[in-house]
Amino acid sequence: MHPNCQDRQCTCSDTARMKAVSKTWDRYNSVIRYQCNTCDNSVEIIPLSHIGYTLTVGVLALLFIIYIFVIKTHDAGFWTYTIVGSLIVYQLFTTTAHCLAHHLHPLALKPKAPVFQVRKTNLRTRIEGMSFLSGVFLPIILGGFILGVALMLGVLHDLYFPRP
Ligand SMILES: [Zn+2]
Repeated sequence: MHPNCQDRQCTCSDTARMKAVSKTWDRYNSVIRYQCNTCDNSVEIIPLSHIGYTLTVGVLALLFIIYIFVIKTHDAGFWTYTIVGSLIVYQLFTTTAHCLAHHLHPLALKPKAPVFQVRKTNLRTRIEGMSFLSGVFLPIILGGFILGVALMLGVLHDLYFPRP
């Protein structure tokens, strides 16, 4: 079974188990819903790698917004700071909340088989199995790769089609 769908612990008792009941795709994260078999508690878990890459994308977007609206604009006022501040708080809140769900509901059993023995059928499953830090670096690596390809194409273009 995929490690992200394994049973998790519930906060109601040590022996209670939470079972994965559904898996949906929420914009850019997959969300796995767990239901406790003892109490009525249910929780939504986002794979750690997804929390990681969402954080990176969020931080990069925030830096971009701060650069454009605060650093480049010399008349950043109260509303600019309020909006930027709220966005930062929102990002911190979502990341913390998602991580807290993992902390409160750890896997009931440590996976015996290493993650890489899971049949990785597609890219989505592959990314879901990755760690938090891999998720954090994924957009950076991806961005670097795209820039690298663009640079290479640019160089090739200039080589074969020199500017007059
Ligand atoms: Zn419970």
